[in-house]
Amino acid sequence: MSAKSLLLQALEFDEESQIRLLQLFVQAASPNPPGSTMEAAKVLRQYLSNRGIPSDIVEAQPGLHNVVSEFEGGAGSGPRVVLNGHIDVFPVPENTNGWTGDLWSGDIKDGRIHGRGVVDMKSGTASLVIAYAALYARRESICGSVALCAVADEETGGRWGTNFLIKQSRDQWGGDVMLSAEPSGHTIRFSEKGTLRLSGSVTTKGALGAYLNLSKGAIRTATSFLAEVVEAVESIEPTPPSEIGRHMKNPETLAAVDRAMGPGTSTVVARPTVNIGTIKGGLKVNMIPENCKFELDIRLPIGLVADQVMTVIDSVIPNYPEATIELKKQEAASNPSSLSSIDHPMLEHLMRNVELVGGSRPAIIPSMGATDCKHYRYAGVPAYVYGCSPFSMATTNESASVDEFLHVTKAHALATWDFLQKKNGISQA
Ligand SMILES: [Zn+2]
Repeated sequence: MSAKSLLLQALEFDEESQIRLLQLFVQAASPNPPGSTMEAAKVLRQYLSNRGIPSDIVEAQPGLHNVVSEFEGGAGSGPRVVLNGHIDVFPVPENTNGWTGDLWSGDIKDGRIHGRGVVDMKSGTASLVIAYAALYARRESICGSVALCAVADEETGGRWGTNFLIKQSRDQWGGDVMLSAEPSGHTIRFSEKGTLRLSGSVTTKGALGAYLNLSKGAIRTATSFLAEVVEAVESIEPTPPSEIGRHMKNPETLAAVDRAMGPGTSTVVARPTVNIGTIKGGLKVNMIPENCKFELDIRLPIGLVADQVMTVIDSVIPNYPEATIELKKQEAASNPSSLSSIDHPMLEHLMRNVELVGGSRPAIIPSMGATDCKHYRYAGVPAYVYGCSPFSMATTNESASVDEFLHVTKAHALATWDFLQKKNGISQA
């Protein structure tokens, strides 16, 4: 029996303890906000220490515990694979009426494990911890090294989680390639759209409501201005790298996007979009308003940066000389799009091993929303996601399939194993 078959067999024999880990992990509540991951981090560290695996806590803020661990393989030098998952989950809903049972029950019913955050992404993070432990047990046959980052803060942007760790040590916690198990509906994600968040205001002359001859008012001006902005921004042609552009136009990619993220997603995945998220103005119905405020949530595809969008929006402002229009970029909520190569050798290992453990060959598609992958990609580290179905993510009675959890665990363990065998590493690719 090959060493790889033994690894797979060990994972199959160990399924009961894997499911138990996920239950305990779900039961250790870690809603963010408020964001404490202390209890859930303890569960992961206990699982590792039971297997003789050392780990550390990096406490970026009081109570925000990142669990980290690393090992060097015994079969020679090679690249470093980082397995990264987040511990924090969506906050508790205000109204829990629709929930049957405890939010953090970890109960298993009809093949699904229940609890807040199990889909995003306690199931995935537990998979990576288990994969890491299985690889650690066979580290003598591995070239290169593996690091585990189970991070405290993804839901609010990663400042005290992944970004903190990469800034602390790019080589140690960034590595050469990162795998994430965020819910991806059995597709592999290689890129994410960026976000440009703007707050804006329109100021005009006010008057009594009958005197439209004096002023159209701030709300009518703002709605005209915003209609022009939507049209202009959504007409911008992004210029992605040519192989990415071809990949995004491939009908198979587009079909996979719609299957994974819902019908019609393929029409916006590679385009800029403008959501007018809020608009507020006016004091009283019979007054022409002087002020109107709004917020825009603009999504940037690969091949389009915020500055290009700002230039287009700025060119619309002179069309409204009667008003003062001001726009401010909300820096903390704005991020460029991020991208990893679609030719990286890890992709083939992931696809092959997903098939080996009973899945169909996953499509390689972009993501609409952001994950911690962006921090790796900004730091020049290729990052890829393969995870369970996003169905029921952040909904009432959130639940994840136990079979999918076991499948995702094996896929990541085997892909990392293959990647860190001598013949398959980056240096030979
Ligand atoms: Zn997530």
